[in-house]
Amino acid sequence: MANAIQLLTLDLDNTLWDVDKIIIRAEQNMRRWLADEAPLSLEHYNQENLPTFRQQVADRFPNKIHDLSFMRTEVLTLVMYAAGYEFQIGRDLANAAFDVFFDGRNQVELFPGAVESLTELSERYTIIALTNGNADIQRAGLSAWLSGAISSADVGKSKPSAEMFHAPLTQFSVRPNQVIHIGDNLIDDVQGAQNVGMHTVWVNLKGSQGPEEATISTNEASDQRGVHKEISHLAQLSSAVAEIAATS
Ligand SMILES: [Mg+2]
Repeated sequence: MANAIQLLTLDLDNTLWDVDKIIIRAEQNMRRWLADEAPLSLEHYNQENLPTFRQQVADRFPNKIHDLSFMRTEVLTLVMYAAGYEFQIGRDLANAAFDVFFDGRNQVELFPGAVESLTELSERYTIIALTNGNADIQRAGLSAWLSGAISSADVGKSKPSAEMFHAPLTQFSVRPNQVIHIGDNLIDDVQGAQNVGMHTVWVNLKGSQGPEEATISTNEASDQRGVHKEISHLAQLSSAVAEIAATS
């Protein structure tokens, strides 16, 4: 049982919930707040100006581009300064506006089957989030099932980079073939995890065309090819994990 599954790493956005819907609502909440609390800012918080502000922040903080909360707060700060708010007032308004956004960002609606599968799996396995996003597992109500989270903000790189997948291996002292990574994105999740030798479950809720198990290419350097499964509904997740556990 040396290869027994020890850890499940779980993508969040578009794996457990529809992230676009959540971000749109969080943005709407924040815009309403800006209209009330910092009305001058709305002239600068628009699609015309935001790319420029984002670029300025990225140029100034190249090491922080994977930290989405930091980036968004700094962009909001530049928006406040452009609107004429003074230094500390602008920064305070930016922080408060981000809090409103972040509150909405963590009001997630789990896809059908998520609660049942996470409940079942968390009784047998340690599960952690492995995400390029900035959802907070506590605030999103996931802490009953997940025992931790590693984000691209923590690692300084985003999936599919190997660093993101090495982080949980180091933290939990496990080998790649003892881990199943679960996610919706064929490149960021499936290819990234397979490249380091992890097993994978592709959460393909939209019925996209994808590779057969046999065509998933793995890194020559990994000692063993990971097992790959595909599901079309989250209710199938625990049996997909069980199948991998039985064959690995
Ligand atoms: Mg995702």
